[in-house]
Amino acid sequence: MGLIACHHMTPHFVSYGLRCACEILGRAMSLQLPNVEAQEDASEIIQAQKVQATLIELLSGEETLIHGLTRHMPTVLDLVPAAGAAICIDEDTHLLGKTPPALVIKKILDWILKQPEREIFATSSLSHLYPEARPWRKEASGVVALLLSKSHRQAILWFRQEVVQTIEWAGNPDKPVKIDGQETLTPRSSFEAWKQTVKGVAHPWKRSEVDAVHDFRNALLHVVLRKSEELARVNAELEQSNAQLDIFADIASHDLKEPLRGIHNYAHFLIEDYPIGVPLDEEGIAKLQTLITLTQRMEDLINSLLHYSRLGRTELVLQETDLNEVVHQALEMLHLRLRETETRVKLPAPLPVVFCNRVSMGEVFYNLLSNAMKYNDKAEKCVEIGVLPSRKPGKVPPTFYVQDNGIGISPEYYESIFRMFKRLHGRSEYGGGTGVGLTIVKKIVERHGGKIWLESEEGKGTTFYFTLSPEVK
Ligand code: ADP
Repeated sequence: MGLIACHHMTPHFVSYGLRCACEILGRAMSLQLPNVEAQEDASEIIQAQKVQATLIELLSGEETLIHGLTRHMPTVLDLVPAAGAAICIDEDTHLLGKTPPALVIKKILDWILKQPEREIFATSSLSHLYPEARPWRKEASGVVALLLSKSHRQAILWFRQEVVQTIEWAGNPDKPVKIDGQETLTPRSSFEAWKQTVKGVAHPWKRSEVDAVHDFRNALLHVVLRKSEELARVNAELEQSNAQLDIFADIASHDLKEPLRGIHNYAHFLIEDYPIGVPLDEEGIAKLQTLITLTQRMEDLINSLLHYSRLGRTELVLQETDLNEVVHQALEMLHLRLRETETRVKLPAPLPVVFCNRVSMGEVFYNLLSNAMKYNDKAEKCVEIGVLPSRKPGKVPPTFYVQDNGIGISPEYYESIFRMFKRLHGRSEYGGGTGVGLTIVKKIVERHGGKIWLESEEGKGTTFYFTLSPEVK
């Protein structure tokens, strides 16, 4: 609604032509106004969208909402034209620009939370609705509040300052219009301008500005939802790794105690059998030798433990890897033992190039190949490395295998052999070992998203199978 009023100091006849001209002028202006407003709105909407996109991007990289919205440029204050903004999360309030103090904002928010609006609350004259805000009308006459969660007191508020307006009326608008005895309309007593001062009012929030806040709310909710899903996933992983850690600590402490007990006992024997002044004989030297072996074993166990725990903590860098090269490197490292044991190695077909961690894959093949040779009592030892023909390429990841014609494994141990320090044989049988190799292989395979399993027949041989990525559903 609008009005163009013209006054004259003396009675003045406005001709028909002039009246028509005024009408055309009025119409032309009112036709132009929405255009001008729409143009202004359009550029403000584009600007708000840009700020929103940047803020959402910044938020994804930050841990908390407050950091994401305040630490970088732009801040949340740039989303809509306002003098100040406040982000309230539970009892925390973060202020930007010109705002009332945090304690006052808390009270304002408490009042807003009691209002029926569920998503956005906007007013350009807060103190008229909420008189307690009157002392702060300079900073907070206009308020738009984005309510993220009413129950958790999560909201973002933007403030506009009071604009004291002096409106000049052509006469007191509240004074009743006088009609003289002859029923003619007379001006309100005089032409002297009547001034009215309007307080506690800010520039009104435009529709496009409230819409921008609304859009931002939707985008924020999306990010918050995604983050909470992510948190739930990390929590689940943490729970699983805590459970694993418990089992792991149990096994590790049990197995580490074994050589420690040995060291303790042998040290006691030595003290008892060789009091001061008694020289060590052959038996004493042998006991010392055992002590050295036990400490060596303990060091091996601790190193394996460390290696295993580091595997889980370091980032797995994946790259295009030619598995033929990886296998050849592993075979090269084992070439002395291969020659000694006269093991025949077969690679029926070339292996593919896959996306994996090259060093870790070298470790997988090294462990599987050395076991295949180690746990083999055949005169003609044979190892085969290959990949199974894929059933559904692209959906089912390739299955690799390492097969031997060795001693085999009884089905009851198919799971436990992957456990830390688990060995099926005496300490020095089959060349000894720490029982960590397969645990590490399993961990590497699983970190790639794959699985490991085996088929075996006692006395005939074992085949270890593994994949390096999950099946595509
Ligand atoms: P280590 O070889 O140090 O004992 P591993 O974790 O590599 O540790 O293997 C665990 C156990 O699984 C071995 O002690 C062995 O008993 C059994 N095992 C592993 N690979 C084979 C295989 N190819 N054939 C038969 N037994 C095997």
